[in-house]
Amino acid sequence: MDPHFARLLSSQRICKCCGATFAQLLSLSCDRPDICSEDLVVQDNSAILTERGDVLTEDFCRLGDLHFLRVVLGLPIQGAGGVEFILGTWASVAPEVFDEYLSLFDVRETEAMGPKPAWLANALPLSDGAPPAGRIRPRADGQYPDLDIVETAHPLYELQSRGLEFEEVLEMLYAYGHDLPSLLYDA
Ligand SMILES: [Zn+2]
Repeated sequence: MDPHFARLLSSQRICKCCGATFAQLLSLSCDRPDICSEDLVVQDNSAILTERGDVLTEDFCRLGDLHFLRVVLGLPIQGAGGVEFILGTWASVAPEVFDEYLSLFDVRETEAMGPKPAWLANALPLSDGAPPAGRIRPRADGQYPDLDIVETAHPLYELQSRGLEFEEVLEMLYAYGHDLPSLLYDA
């Protein structure tokens, strides 16, 4: 692992804006798909079965005919010894994929369904343009499905395959409003 990166990873310095360490900030999340109104309250997962109309829960979202699952987009970091930048995001899926996932989620067997087509539902820093097509890989034990970007012409595809450079990690944190000087330098 790059020694500079290793030092940052174990650093106890905290971000002035949120009190998180650099290591903690390598995992960020969006609480809803971009298209979902901020007015919709996040409910327990059971609401997806019991409520009609538009619903947002911790792991599921239904807006009219649109269906979303909470997923994890992992971006490798160059020279980081396998450490990834983890973005908790949302993916739009076909209604039948949504229903299949939901039924398996309850019995904790989502990994049985295999990869399915999906579309990233959050715009991310470092990647202009429409959110790309991807593929979800449901995992075992109630873990969020992984999202692989499959649209090779999209900037996120390149980032996911080549890995983020250190400067891009910082750019990502900066884009989300974190305070880089407090993370990088002693006060
Ligand atoms: Zn912060």
